[in-house]
Amino acid sequence: CGICGVVGRRSATPLVFGALRRLEYRGYDSAGIATLVDGRIARRRAAGKLDNLKHVLDESPLNGTTGIGHTRWATHGAPTQNNAHPHHVGGVAVVHNGIIENYESLRDELVAEGRVFTTQTDTEVVAQLADHYLQSGLAPQVAAFETLKRLRGAYALAMIFEGHEGLMIGARHGAPLAVGWGEGETFLGSDSLALAPLVIRITYLDDGDWCVIRPGEVIFHDMTGQVVERPVQSVARLD
Ligand code: GLU
Repeated sequence: CGICGVVGRRSATPLVFGALRRLEYRGYDSAGIATLVDGRIARRRAAGKLDNLKHVLDESPLNGTTGIGHTRWATHGAPTQNNAHPHHVGGVAVVHNGIIENYESLRDELVAEGRVFTTQTDTEVVAQLADHYLQSGLAPQVAAFETLKRLRGAYALAMIFEGHEGLMIGARHGAPLAVGWGEGETFLGSDSLALAPLVIRITYLDDGDWCVIRPGEVIFHDMTGQVVERPVQSVARLD
């Protein structure tokens, strides 16, 4: 299972799909990609191998320069197309590796508020919560931070937001995540292997960190919301 994302200047889908290929070694049962197309979230998902997702993308290409992708190893909910990530609720799309341990209580709270869940995954609460905070008028990065404060368990997360081209939020707690520094574009990935052909410099998030990613610019925060600096490391280019 793995996650990846890009904000920048080139078409996101081939870059994200290539990163998903390099994450295949971790094992997975389904996969998907979401991008912003004219400011709106668009996504393609498929159960089974990445070749199935590739077929869907060939039939129905996905444009946009802001994108996230996921290979899923199902923990909650069958490995169907509908349970595949990214999960899209209202103004946000989310990919997640790990387990949200308090998803049942969060789901009950959101259902009581009138929200309708459409998947069997633990992850959907992340998208529903983030959209709840967006709907309450918070800016994406504030909505994301409020969401993270509610989550218990292990996660690596990436989020993109309708109407916010060139913005991505990454977060990690108990699962690895790294930023890759491109030129005029910035990547996010589960590991350096996913990012290695794309960049020569990466920065690992510390456990509990989250970050606001824009093309060529990342602001790292610790779990209290403080802005923090994280070291840049060189990685060997594979190509
Ligand atoms: N728990 C999530 C799910 O079952 C994410 C699984 C993963 O790490 O791929 O959808």
